[in-house]
Amino acid sequence: MIYLDNAATTPLDAEVLSEMLPYLQTEYGNPQSQHAAGRAAAQGLISARDGVAKIFGCRAEEVYFLSGGTEAGNLAVKGACAARKTGHMIISAIEHPAVLESARQMQSFGFDVTFVPPDKNGIIPPEEVEKAVRADTFFCAVMAANNEIGTLQKVEKISEICTRYGIFYYCDCVQSVGVVPFFKGPSAFAVSAHKFHGPKGVAAMYIRGGSKISPLISGGMQERGLRGGTVNVAQAVGLASALKRAADGKNNAYIAGLRDYFVGRVLSEIGGTALNGDPVLRVPSNANISFAGCDGANILMCLDLKGICVSTGSACSAGAVTPSHVVTAIAGEARAKSAVRFTFGKYNTREEADRTVEALKQIVSQIRHV
Ligand code: PLP
Repeated sequence: MIYLDNAATTPLDAEVLSEMLPYLQTEYGNPQSQHAAGRAAAQGLISARDGVAKIFGCRAEEVYFLSGGTEAGNLAVKGACAARKTGHMIISAIEHPAVLESARQMQSFGFDVTFVPPDKNGIIPPEEVEKAVRADTFFCAVMAANNEIGTLQKVEKISEICTRYGIFYYCDCVQSVGVVPFFKGPSAFAVSAHKFHGPKGVAAMYIRGGSKISPLISGGMQERGLRGGTVNVAQAVGLASALKRAADGKNNAYIAGLRDYFVGRVLSEIGGTALNGDPVLRVPSNANISFAGCDGANILMCLDLKGICVSTGSACSAGAVTPSHVVTAIAGEARAKSAVRFTFGKYNTREEADRTVEALKQIVSQIRHV
């Protein structure tokens, strides 16, 4: 199998698993418990939180372990709304559904939302964000890197605008680990372990101390009362371990080289192809390509039959495949319908890139012929 869907998820690294295993087998105590087993688990959790805080450049009390990037987006939007009760939010139109759908839900509860569209390269213009600011704006969300087209956003500038107007800024960093350095500009940001060779079902979120945010999950006093429920220590340990290995981006040059080689071959050897998103300001792994006259979903299926895993970035709802809202926003529906997302990782090889190009040549010409 050739796996070119590393933006969807990545395989768990063996070293990460071995650091997690003691907390699944021997150190199984509840970290809240007041006895030796609990203290052993709590120690694992403390080390994981300290490790994450060091990489985030924040205090350990500002790191929260959650169930994933989706929960982080929900907590940011809904938690900020619950703490404010009324007002206006600015949301980039190309956010992950965790943020977009949360914002739409809050809109249905009476909050005002401005969705800021991207430019044709998939970049949210900071000046458009500033233009959208109102006296009652309390929240803004613009992700660091887009999950579909990989475009890097001008987060420093957005952060500066939000700071100037006293707006809570949530920056989704799920796709930017090892690419965009963490900085303390945003009021909150989050990473999800399974995107960088850690376990699924765990995120770490930075929330600046003193921020106005209410819990989504009420319960015990875990995570300083912001997220009830027994913390999954093994997952937190796995996230910290994977983050330590991924944060320096040491594989970026290799991955970008492979991606650029692949894009170069596809664009020059297959007619009617176009790269979606900014050609330069993008994460090293992402190649989102439209194939004129083809349905991206058909290409995906044909590649799958040949053992090659890719994605269309489409959401499949109620049996109907809707083209990517991100590619539609920057290049229109036709380009979106014919888009395929290839995302490379550290385990991919040039031979795999070559085999994928050869498979694509055959598939695209067959589809076009039909
Ligand atoms: N945000 C972005 C940018 C993502 O790409 C994803 C997952 O694809 C998420 C949030 C959701 O993360 P999780 O899968 O951990 O819920």
